[in-house]
Parts: sequence; structure tokens; C-alpha cells
Amino acid sequence: MSVRDSEIQGPAWDLSTEYASPDAPELQRDLDRATALMDEMEALAPALVDAGASSVAGASLAAGASSAAGSLSAAGAIPAAQGMRKLADEAEVLLRNVGVFANCLLSVDSCDEAAQVLNGRLQNYRQRYADLLQPLTQFCDLADEPTIDAYLGDPQVAPSAFLVRHARERRHELLSLPEEGLVNGLSQDGIQAWGNLYDQLSGTLSCKVLVDNEHREMGLAEASGLLQKPDDRLRRNAWQAINEAWEGHEETCAAAINAIAGWRLELCRKRSLRRPVHFLDAPVHMNRIHRDTLEALLQVSAEHREMAQRAARLQAAAYGKTAIGPWDSRAPAPVISEDQGPGIAFADAIRLIADAYAGVHPEMGDFVHMMVRNRWIEGSRGNSKRPGAYCTGFAKSRTPRVYTTFTGGASDVMTLAHELGHAYHSWVMRDLPESQRSYGMSLAETASTFGETLVRDAMLQQAGAPQARLEVAWEDMSALVTFVLNIPTRFEFEKGFYERRQERPLRPAELKSLMSEAWNTWYGDAVSEPDPMFWASKLHFYISGLSFYNFPYLFGYLFSLGLYARRQAEDTDFYPRYVALLRDTGRMTAEDLAERHLDTDIRQPEFWRDALGALAPRVNAFEELLQQAGRAPAA
Ligand SMILES: [Zn+2]
Repeated sequence: MSVRDSEIQGPAWDLSTEYASPDAPELQRDLDRATALMDEMEALAPALVDAGASSVAGASLAAGASSAAGSLSAAGAIPAAQGMRKLADEAEVLLRNVGVFANCLLSVDSCDEAAQVLNGRLQNYRQRYADLLQPLTQFCDLADEPTIDAYLGDPQVAPSAFLVRHARERRHELLSLPEEGLVNGLSQDGIQAWGNLYDQLSGTLSCKVLVDNEHREMGLAEASGLLQKPDDRLRRNAWQAINEAWEGHEETCAAAINAIAGWRLELCRKRSLRRPVHFLDAPVHMNRIHRDTLEALLQVSAEHREMAQRAARLQAAAYGKTAIGPWDSRAPAPVISEDQGPGIAFADAIRLIADAYAGVHPEMGDFVHMMVRNRWIEGSRGNSKRPGAYCTGFAKSRTPRVYTTFTGGASDVMTLAHELGHAYHSWVMRDLPESQRSYGMSLAETASTFGETLVRDAMLQQAGAPQARLEVAWEDMSALVTFVLNIPTRFEFEKGFYERRQERPLRPAELKSLMSEAWNTWYGDAVSEPDPMFWASKLHFYISGLSFYNFPYLFGYLFSLGLYARRQAEDTDFYPRYVALLRDTGRMTAEDLAERHLDTDIRQPEFWRDALGALAPRVNAFEELLQQAGRAPAA
């Protein structure tokens, strides 16, 4: 039995509601309007810059004297700042709208010439916009309290209060304006250059992978693609080849990672004039959480390490081994049954997702059908489509779009459920002021993981083909292993590295043993060997713009699972609380959000324990599935 191909693949999306084409007159009108708005911003800038420069000259800011940071009393600049904010809001919506349009076109056809040209043109607009925004950011950071109160007194500016006040929590770190300017200017050829060097290297490195008894030379991207293949030996060969390639450049990578961390640590030291600045302050603040929350999160992950290790050992058993290898992080489910079952048609996938969503509330199910009806989902199987899946949205119409390539596999259904969760999140926020619709990375995956979990549970409850069931449960276990073992491994390495880097740069051998220690701590004997070169092969350690690009993943995963556990434990009024929580994600810290909508203190371990504890039955169910397939480990 087979479902016809045309029934399986999804529909193409409709972008014509925004613009007819990249050179449509209405698109040009939006860009012209953005230019006019930016001209007006430019005219207002001197009033802000003068206020900033003159007040700082004699202020306590640079000297770090006893008074609170910043004494910019630029009352005269308030109307200019307010005007600037309104102009910027309008310009940003237009620029984002055009940018999203160009990206959507390029996703479907990466060779779309007109979209390429449009994207190139947009770069200048974006750069100009970013430059023009600088004086306003400075004003908001430096002005004294009464000035900021007055600034936020304007009803059109008031909605940005959370963003402004949250940014001001780090005012004590500010250096004098000329110093900030110097740091900014030098970073181009400093920290950013090291990040660029790494990107350059990883883009051009090649390695030799043993494929079918012969060595094949290929780029790192192609080799890491092999890590997703079902052939265990091939994955291992690819991993070895990638690591050998990085070992040939370990001195370069060590120089880069030491310089990137050294730069940040030196800045922390310089910014510690008023009170000590820790290297975790910036990443924690950026994610709108507190240090205590991070500690609680890691503590509870450590408590549940054994459960995650058990999941990893079960995955290993499915492949006929006792421990997973470091090359198995993205391994697919092994083939346990030739009967793959029929492919899932797009319409059936939508019905499944909508039904699962509707189990929370009918509105959520209706939303899924509306996305299809409005043709806001791209799910076709075009030849020049880019891989991957994402959710985006048009800023003008405030309508979401979901991009995916639907080929009828169980994992395609999960991906679609995940992206529709993102879309739902933005949909419930559609009437909020622009400045309250963006959220930190830590809360960004709340609705997506929640939606994915809903659909996964629904699929596991249906009696499908064994292979399809295994694939659904497999991804569930892979997520558990990634989030509760691999992410903390990365965090522990990075934290340990920053602590030791304060004394001196670390040698490649030291970086390797630090990384191996972290692997052993978290994976224990669930992994056959550590991944000593992970500090070099993982791009995340070389992003010059932000550090500790790891714990936000753990937070997001566990936060949504905690919500899910709440939904199962409670109550009939879960849905209105869920929507209210999502709506507040752009105007509250995660702690305030949890306090208000879940009556819980996430700085304490309990919430996280509930989240992780709810996973134990799923690990058991996975074991049962393997037993039925004759793949469970010997008892
Ligand atoms: Zn996501």
C-alpha cells in the first residue's frame, strides 16, 4: 500500500499577500518610506548625541565615582528620543517585512536572482538603521531615572519600558563614551576577527573519510552530514576524519578560543569599576534569567543524569552496542523493521497535529487549520529548496509563515508540529506593541517544544508501524540525551575554561583534557569514549557576538516540558494561563513569567524536577518498544 507522492508532499505557500515580486512597486514604496523615516531619524540625532556627549564630559560615569552609574540629565533631549523611537519602530517594521520576503523567496529557490539582489540592497538599509539607532540606545542607557521616566511617559513609547529597564540593569558596566567607542571600533579586528578566522577555517577545511573501503576527500559540512546516516561505522569514520582535520589546526583554534575568552575576561575586568562583573553576567542577562535559575537548572539536570544515561544506553542497544559513541549525537533510529508503513500524507499530518493541539483547546486546533487554509505553510518538495525548517512572520500584516519540506516521514510531522508551535506563539502576540513581541532565546522554544511534545505523545498512542513508532520515540530520547547530557557538557567545559583562562591561555592538550573530563562527568559509561576535539569542532564556542550559547537550549527544553507536566497534572483553566504566559514572554523575565502564570519560583529546583521527572515514563516506554523489537539490552 502506498500513498501517492502528490498526496504526501505539502502545498506551496502564498507570499503574494505581502508583495507580488521582489521588484513590485509596493515593495519599493515600503523601502522609500523607510528611507524617509531614516532621514528624519538622522535629523533628530544631533539633539541626542550632543546631550550624551556634553553630560558625560563632567559626569561621574567615566570616573566611576560613588554616585550611581550615569548622570545624564538630558531633559532637553527627551522629545528627540521619543520621536526617534517612533520613527524607528515604523522603519523597522518596513525593513523587516522586506527582509523576510526576500528570505522566504530564497528558501524556496536559493538561486532566485531578483531576491538575491534585493537581499544585497537591504544590507545598506540595515546598516544605516543600526547606526541611526545608536544614539537612542545610548540615551536610554545613560539618562538618569527622572529623564527615563519622562521618556517612557509618552503612551507610544511606554510599551518599551521592559526592554529599556532591563537593558539598564547593566548600566554599572558602562565605560566612558570614548572608551566604549574604542572597544567597539577595535573589536572588528579583535574578537570578531578571531571568530571570522574560525568560520573561514571551518568553511575551507577538508577531511578524508573512509567510505566503502576507500578514503574520500570532502568538506567538513559534507562529512558532518554523514553523522546523520544509519550506518554506525560510517558515522564513526566521519567523526574520526573531522577530528583529525581539526587536530591539524589545533594551535590555530587554541589561539582563537583563548583570544575570544581573553577579550571578554579583560572587558569584564575593565567593567568592574563599580561592582564585579562576572563572565556569566552578560549571557544570563541576555537570556532574561537570573544566575540562581541557571544554577537550579544545572543542579536538577545533574540529579537526572542517570536517567539520561539510561536513555543513551538504550539507544546504543538498539544499534547492538553497550554505549553510544560521540559520533552518535545525530544518529537516526536504526532500521528494526522493513515495514516502514505508508508515508504520511500532508493532510493527514495536519489532521493529526490539529487534533493533538485541539486537545489543549479547540482554538489551538482551529489555528492549525487556519494556517493551511491561508496557505501560510510551505511544505512542497521543490528541487532548489534550502534544507531545514523555520517559522518566520511578516511584520506589517503580523501573519506567521512556516517553512518546511514535507516528505511524509514521522520526523517531518514532528518538525511541522514544532514550527506550528512557533507560529502559534507569534499569533497570540499579534496584537501587542512591536516592542513587546520579541523574546529572549531562553523562552523562544516554549511553544514549539510544547506543540512537538503534544504531537509526539499523540503519535506514540496510535498503533502505527513499529518502525514509525521507533522513529518518534527515538527523537524523544535523542532530545533527552542532547539537552541533559550534551548541553551541560558544553557548559561545564566553557565555564571551566573561562575560570582557568583568567590565569593564562590554555594549551591544546589542556583544552582536550578539559573537554574529555566534561564528557566523562556527564555521560559516564553511557559513552564509549569522550570527544576531546569538541572544543575545536563546535562552532558555538567561536561566536564572537555571544558566549555560553548552550544553557539557553537546556532552559528552553526544560521550561516547556515543565509547562507540559503542568498541563497534564492540572486543570481546566490551563489554556488561558498558557496563552497569557506566551503573551508575556516579550515583556518579563523568565522568573516573573513563571511566578505570575505558574505560581512557581524557577530559582528553586522543584519546577525543574517535575519537568524532568515526567520524562521517566517515556524512557520506560522506549525500553518496551525496544523489547518488542528484540533490541533491548540484556537485563
Ligand atoms: Zn524551534
